[in-house]
Amino acid sequence: MGHPKSANITATISKISLEQRERRNRHRGCVLWFTGLSAAGKSTIANELECALFAKGMHAFVLDGDRIRHGLCSDLAFSPHDRQENIRRVGEVAALFAQAGFICIAAFISPYRADRSLVRNMNDGNFYEVYVNAPLSVCESRDPKGLYEKARHNEIKNFTGISAPYEPPMNPEIELRTDKLAVSEAVERILRHLKKWRVVKGR
Ligand code: ADP
Repeated sequence: MGHPKSANITATISKISLEQRERRNRHRGCVLWFTGLSAAGKSTIANELECALFAKGMHAFVLDGDRIRHGLCSDLAFSPHDRQENIRRVGEVAALFAQAGFICIAAFISPYRADRSLVRNMNDGNFYEVYVNAPLSVCESRDPKGLYEKARHNEIKNFTGISAPYEPPMNPEIELRTDKLAVSEAVERILRHLKKWRVVKGR
């Protein structure tokens, strides 16, 4: 949590502990933070993973860049400052979901290491960084929304990978090479890690 502008704010502690929620859910709450270039496959894998977890009776929810930018962050654009503020807000929301006992799957380009490490620090111990990685050339050839085409023609400014930087994670908990793995394989790999980390039960 950050520092409130007003001094007259006191946090109310819930009468229900995270442990109680987790016992009822039969899994832990956590944040799976997907980072990577546009079209790397973050949303696609996030949504398949959400379905897989839901089918197993778990509480999972996807926070997606495009959805958040229509609502909570509709006042923000793509300058470094706005990107930082976007990620800060999303990090706080993801932390709330994890505290509510959810497996929160956050799919955001989040190009700056410093911003991602800020979010990691908001979620002590419950944060797993998933680097959804495909070479720029592959992302550009997929171009599901035609954004790379526009960025190449200078119709979009500050586009990650073209006219704005992307800083790859140094030590992600998982790296998924989506030019080599099928979506189902990527989902399986994350599910195996969730078991290994004891977020969910099973071997
Ligand atoms: P992002 O959320 O990272 O911008 P999207 O999931 O919106 O990316 O788009 C990725 C595109 O790449 C989709 O059209 C998806 O069908 C396609 N794709 C092809 N192969 C893969 C794969 N192995 N993993 C994820 N997406 C893939």
